[in-house]
Amino acid sequence: MLVDKFGRRINYLRLAVTDRCNLRCFYCMPEQGLDWLSRKELMSYEEMLHISSVLVKAGIEKVRITGGEPFVRKGFMSFLTDLSKLNGLQQLTLTTNGVLTAPFVPDLKRIGVTSVNLSLDTLDRDRFFAITRRDELPRVMEALEALLQYGIEVKINAVVMEGKNTDDILPLVELTKDMPVSVRFIEEMPFNGGGAHHTKLAWDHVQIMHTIKDKYPGIHKLPDPPYSTSYNYQVPGHKGSVGVIAAYTRSFCGSCNRIRLTPQGELKTCLYGNAVVNVKDLMRAGSDEQELVTALQSAISQKERDGWEAEKSVSNLTVLNASMATIGG
Ligand code: SF4
Repeated sequence: MLVDKFGRRINYLRLAVTDRCNLRCFYCMPEQGLDWLSRKELMSYEEMLHISSVLVKAGIEKVRITGGEPFVRKGFMSFLTDLSKLNGLQQLTLTTNGVLTAPFVPDLKRIGVTSVNLSLDTLDRDRFFAITRRDELPRVMEALEALLQYGIEVKINAVVMEGKNTDDILPLVELTKDMPVSVRFIEEMPFNGGGAHHTKLAWDHVQIMHTIKDKYPGIHKLPDPPYSTSYNYQVPGHKGSVGVIAAYTRSFCGSCNRIRLTPQGELKTCLYGNAVVNVKDLMRAGSDEQELVTALQSAISQKERDGWEAEKSVSNLTVLNASMATIGG
């Protein structure tokens, strides 16, 4: 079992399979000038399968695939199929921007992916273009419909950004009227690849909920599942639910159960902290399974109490200046 020094059981791995993306969301990466990782720097699929299997044997029960955008990496579906066969893995999920997802939905269903997080900040085509610098909203909506048609649970993740999409909060809540989706509003985080991180947030979880409650005074609180990062609500009569994720305020760290692997194999025990060990380097240097487990356990035991402590421990601003695409969300 993987346990940190605060007694938190770590059973959730977020595995970023690529740093590349087919959108250019302004809050995640600059429009141009990103240096993509070379093939050699990336973990191969074999390496990802091996480290995932070591981690699952050590106590990881849930794996979420992230990126970048997972579907832009060649051979991704075949890797996901192999991963889904790992003994002991209880839940396999992924986060996608939805642009390339629709044709793969039947395969996702077949291999047992039960839940997909769709990153979607707006339902307005012009605003979608303004935010992502690409005109791809129709394909994302196609993916949303296909996922629901195949009975895969969908959580829509919308980052709320002052001056960009706050007009989308209510239309996104309205989507839950007829669609059984969970729409989750996320506080903007300071990872934009350009180093323009903020120290104060205008649209925090309190402000977001104020806006929703003004329009839907009857909205009521739902019980939050264990390890939930969102505070969850439902408008009476709506099929879906609404959640708010205090990603900047970081009020959910007490029950943190997660670790991250970046596409280049760096283990991060907190989104806001530095990488603590590089498992790709260890594997390439010939570490056996026991050595890998020892290194992982030692890194996990040092996990900081919360995102604020992790941020303080960062010796420079490299992490906060990083792109989300290099961290894995
Ligand atoms: S900010 Fe760090 S400690 Fe808090 S939930 Fe996220 S990863 Fe866990």
